[in-house]
Amino acid sequence: MFNCFKTGWRHLGAALFVAGCLLSGQVLAADKAHVVVLATGGTIAGAGADAVNSATYQAAKVPVDKLIAGIPELAKVADVKGEQVFQIASESFTNDNLMTLGRRVSALVKDKGVDGIVITHGTDTLEETAFFLNLVIHSDKPIVVVGSMRPGTALSADGGLNLLDAVSVAANPESRGRGVMVVMNDEILSARDVVKTINIKTNAFASQWGALGMIVEGKSYWFRKIDKKHTLTSEFNIDNLKELAPVDIAYAYGNVGAEAYEAFAAKGDKAIIHAGTGNGSVADRMVPVLRGLQDKGVQIIRSSRVWGGFVLRNAEQPDDKYGWVVAHDLSPQKARILAAVAIASGFNAEKLQKAYWEY
Ligand code: GLU
Repeated sequence: MFNCFKTGWRHLGAALFVAGCLLSGQVLAADKAHVVVLATGGTIAGAGADAVNSATYQAAKVPVDKLIAGIPELAKVADVKGEQVFQIASESFTNDNLMTLGRRVSALVKDKGVDGIVITHGTDTLEETAFFLNLVIHSDKPIVVVGSMRPGTALSADGGLNLLDAVSVAANPESRGRGVMVVMNDEILSARDVVKTINIKTNAFASQWGALGMIVEGKSYWFRKIDKKHTLTSEFNIDNLKELAPVDIAYAYGNVGAEAYEAFAAKGDKAIIHAGTGNGSVADRMVPVLRGLQDKGVQIIRSSRVWGGFVLRNAEQPDDKYGWVVAHDLSPQKARILAAVAIASGFNAEKLQKAYWEY
C-alpha cells in the first residue's frame, strides 16, 4: 500500500487510488480480513518470573488486548479484535466452558463482518475443544485454535509467531471449508486428528495422518484435505444442543477392576469410553462388567490408550454381539467429545458407530 502512495495514485483522488491499488494487486486496509481472537487462557497467556522459566510459570495471566498489542505485525495481516471468553488453564475446561465458547463462535460466524476466528487456548485440552467446534459449528469460515508451549516471558517464546500464523490462516480465504484447524509450530493440523504428543517441546502437536499444511512467513502451503465430515457437513449443531451428554473415560491396564466403570455408571453416564490397551482390548474379568453396564443403558465405546493406529470392530471383542461401539482412530479424549455431542443429539449405538466411522 505504501508503494501505492509513492507511485502517486493519491493525486488522482480516492476513487482512482482504490482502483489503482486493486489493479496493482495490493491489499487495502479496508480489504483486510476481520478476525476475532477469542481468548480462553493457557500458556499463550502465561507469565513466568524469569526468562529462563519455560516450564515453571502461571498459565492464563495475560489479557487478550495485551496479547494482541504485543504483536504489532498482526495489524498488517488482518483487522484483529480481541474478546476474553475465559482466563483459565485448559485442564479445567468443563463441558459448560465448551458450550459457552461454542455458542460465541456460532454467533460470530453468522456475523457478516467477521471473516475468521482464532481461539487462544491452553495446549493440554486444545485438541478436544478444536474437535468439539469441528463437530458443532455450521460455517465454512476459518476457525483456528492456537496455543503455545512457552509463556511470552520466556526466551524463545513460541506464542507470538503461533498467534500471528493463526491469524494469517484465519484471514486467508483459502482456509475456508477445511474444518476447524490447529496452528502450532508452523503447521496447520486438522482438529479431528491432532494430538498433543509431548509436554516439554515446542513441536508438541502432530497427527498420525499428517498436517493439512504449513505456514511460513504468513503464507499457507496446503498439502491435504480432510476426508471426514465436519462443520457444514456435520449432523450436529450447537444451536440445537442444550447440553452435552455425561460421558467419562476409564483407563485400562492389566490389573484393572470394575470400580471406575461402576462409579461412572452410578453417576448417570450415558456412555463410558474404555481407553483400552492395544486394539481397545478388554481384560477377561471386565467383559461381564461392561456387558452388565451396557444392559443398564450405558454405551460401551472401545478406544485405545495407544496414540496411533485405530480400533477395529469385532477384532479382540465381538462388538456386534455385545452391542458395543468402537471409536476408530479417535483418541479416548476425542471419542468422549463425539459421544457427548452425538448422544445429546439423540444418537443410539448404531448411529454412534456410524458417526465414529464418519467424523
Ligand atoms: N496446563 C495449561 C493449559 O493447558 C498450560 C499448558 C499450555 O498451555 O501449554 O492451559
